[in-house]
Amino acid sequence: MITTDILIIGAGPTGLFAVFEAGLLKLKCHIIDALPQPGGQLTELYPKKPIFDIPGFPSINAGALVDNLMEQIKQFQPGFTLGETAQTLKKLEDGTFEVITNKGTVHHAKAVAIAGGLGTFEPRKPALDNLADYEENGVEYFIKEPEHFRNKKVVIAGGGDSALDWSIFLTDIASDVTLIHRRNEFRGALDSVEKVQALKDQGKIHMVTPAEVRGLKGDGKLTAITVEKDGEIYDLETDYFIPLFGLTPKLGDIANWGLEIEKNAIVVNNALDYQTNIPGVYAIGDVNTYPGKLKLILCGFHEATLMCQSVYNMLNPGKKFVLKYTTVSGIDGFDGSRKEAEKAVVKKID
Ligand SMILES: Cc1cc2nc3c(=O)[nH]c(=O)nc-3n(C[C@H](O)[C@H](O)[C@H](O)COP(=O)(O)OP(=O)(O)OC[C@H]3O[C@@H](n4cnc5c(N)ncnc54)[C@H](O)[C@@H]3O)c2cc1C
Repeated sequence: MITTDILIIGAGPTGLFAVFEAGLLKLKCHIIDALPQPGGQLTELYPKKPIFDIPGFPSINAGALVDNLMEQIKQFQPGFTLGETAQTLKKLEDGTFEVITNKGTVHHAKAVAIAGGLGTFEPRKPALDNLADYEENGVEYFIKEPEHFRNKKVVIAGGGDSALDWSIFLTDIASDVTLIHRRNEFRGALDSVEKVQALKDQGKIHMVTPAEVRGLKGDGKLTAITVEKDGEIYDLETDYFIPLFGLTPKLGDIANWGLEIEKNAIVVNNALDYQTNIPGVYAIGDVNTYPGKLKLILCGFHEATLMCQSVYNMLNPGKKFVLKYTTVSGIDGFDGSRKEAEKAVVKKID
């Protein structure tokens, strides 16, 4: 049996950063993730995509951000149960929790933080008769390794951030990038829409709107797609068709744990500490919902921080917690403490 202070379900950025914040409060963490590696959506869906809204990083690739988070939490030695899904949650008589995975691993914790993101990753697929024949033979739903598309003809379909971001990114890699969307307007960030428009004007992206993909052609391997635009139907040669229509969120077993759920997300008390309707069970990051919720990495970091403070207060009733900045308090085992910083300054002045 694995015993810890906070059991975190989900090793996405939110779950990983929670380990750091808990570590500052001397709380031990253990993380369970269904995937074989940490990083959540960043590793699974877009490891090579740059992210521009992480404070202090004008641009950082998703994979590098996960590497940095792993480096940052190493000092607190979290435990990992990877490749296993948290299946059952039971509150024990003494108020602690037991979580058992699909492989039977038993975890015991004083508090549980669900950082399950979107749950299991199920891409929304286009309704095309022979789609299954071409999956992994030219039809892809995720771009894990952009180099795979080097010097290839690529057609991306969709109108959201994923479709726009990947179309922009692949212009430097693929020999030909076409973006197809059923409307003339895109749902993604204005900045990305403007970049795509500029690339279209430079002839680097072919934009086909409003249009829909009606069929797939090839002989075992995809060679063309059938497109309908303005009532006209024609074939477009391509090596890859990448429909990026978003993911169907599936909470899976978590939905049966007696938590208050709204539109596939766990309702939390955001005025206080991101606790759910089960005291001692928190939900942080993309998995939760509250008025004004934003599914962003930095919001998950904030929620993880407040969750840890709440767990500390719950486990140390009556003990006054004094918030200190890490530059002042230092971090055990980490040479970023005030003394070390002062020594460095003195050295520089010398
Ligand atoms: C293409 C794309 C681009 C994006 N770009 C940006 C961006 O530029 N900036 C930004 O801030 N955000 C961006 N996002 C959103 C960002 O990725 C999410 O907000 C972030 O990943 C949420 O982190 P999380 O840790 O809450 O959840 P996730 O990253 O979804 O991680 C959740 C983890 O929980 C695991 N899990 C779920 N259920 C269980 C279970 N029962 N047992 C075990 N494990 C479980 C999953 O396997 C997963 O690994 C983007 C998203 C996409 C799809």
